[in-house]
Amino acid sequence: MGKWMKNIRQVEPYVPGEQPLEKDIIKLNTNENPYPPSPEVLNAAAEISRTGADALRKYPDPCITKLVQTLSAYHGVWPENVFAGVGSDDVLSVAFQTFFNSDESLLFPDVTYSFYPVWADLYGISYKTVRLDDDFKINVSDYFIPNGGIIIANPNAPTGISLPLKDIEELVRNNQDSVVIIDEAYVDFGGESAINLTKDYENLLVVRTFSKSRSLAGLRVGYAIGSEALIKAMNDVKFSINSYTLNAPAIQMGIASVKDDAYFKEGISKIKETRQKTVEGLEFAGFAVLESDANFVFAKHGRHKAKDIFEELKKRKIYVRYFPKNRIDNYLRITIGTDEEMTRFLKEIRDITEQLSMRF
Ligand code: PMP
Repeated sequence: MGKWMKNIRQVEPYVPGEQPLEKDIIKLNTNENPYPPSPEVLNAAAEISRTGADALRKYPDPCITKLVQTLSAYHGVWPENVFAGVGSDDVLSVAFQTFFNSDESLLFPDVTYSFYPVWADLYGISYKTVRLDDDFKINVSDYFIPNGGIIIANPNAPTGISLPLKDIEELVRNNQDSVVIIDEAYVDFGGESAINLTKDYENLLVVRTFSKSRSLAGLRVGYAIGSEALIKAMNDVKFSINSYTLNAPAIQMGIASVKDDAYFKEGISKIKETRQKTVEGLEFAGFAVLESDANFVFAKHGRHKAKDIFEELKKRKIYVRYFPKNRIDNYLRITIGTDEEMTRFLKEIRDITEQLSMRF
């Protein structure tokens, strides 16, 4: 092997959920929305293909001005308070590079989005994980210790459990010397947003995505809301890596999504109704289900191993997510699909648990 090998950065990468190429599967493994995006998004795409040759020939607006303005009007903040990126993974990655540059450790829960330790390792940020309690809940006073920053997903992933706004405010109030990031990827499905708190706390950044509640995981649009100082610092880092992040069609289609608020709200209520039915069905089949404010549930069977159920489901072309990790290796994370998909899923689950019981 060449000597150059020793100079190569070795990283342990994030492992995304499977995107199987086979057809006719029920895909409940990556928290996508089962419903299509707003028809307005598709109209914007049609408009781009009719008139968009010029938009494709040129570089896109590096300041993403129109989408930033649309989001600022939607959330009642100034455009200077909004940063947009290629999905919230891109926004979070820029935020890690921008804000976590301290001798003290970054703090996040021991059970949370598994990308956080990957960015921390890649960017040389030291971190400490803080144990969730035995019910997988966050106790904010555990974070009242010296730190170089805090990141919390609210609702948390993969548990789906959310933290009340008053707890988030307490967390931020007691940590005014660090940047606190609240990752609200799933907040539209039931949590309380901390966006309004960004007006009172200059060190608070709230990160959002179009991937889940807006059914646009394939478009790759995410954003952050925070004080002008935080957003300027992120833009300075972004312009030091890649000025042209969002492409021109994504900007147009993203704007169209935000403008169709009625469709957005209707989609969310459908998912919440199906989530309720799914929880009831899972409990009937012998699962304990954590209380979820997200578009997925995290559940553990009373008698059977999560891995066995996961593998059996896969044989029946139903994909859910299984994490072979400390504390959560007996849970399954199940994305909420359409009513029909969840009815079929619950039927297979009842069948699988009965069959597994017969093996003993
Ligand atoms: N945060 C959390 C907690 C997530 O689960 C995800 C989805 N994998 C993301 C951020 C990133 O989503 P996206 O890049 O699609 O916006």
